[in-house]
Amino acid sequence: MAKEIKCPECGEWTSDNEATCSHCGANLHPDRSEEIKRMLSFKPLDIPLIPINEDDHWFLKGVKMVLRTGQAIFIAIGSAIVYIASGAAH
Ligand SMILES: [Zn+2]
Repeated sequence: MAKEIKCPECGEWTSDNEATCSHCGANLHPDRSEEIKRMLSFKPLDIPLIPINEDDHWFLKGVKMVLRTGQAIFIAIGSAIVYIASGAAH
């Protein structure tokens, strides 16, 4: 017998094998789909710059500054590629 779970939307019992509730069609595994959505919408340009704390050691600050510069260049190149790619698509 298939395992039954309670629908978070309508409260009816429905098969856990289904992706959606057989009563109201609600997504029974929102956590799973949210995770997939996050992975699909992942953009390297959204990576925040490395934070530099005021109380970091001067050497650590220097290293972070270099890494941030590298990140900025990477983001600039990425933006340029996206710009060129979207421009070429027209
Ligand atoms: Zn339901």
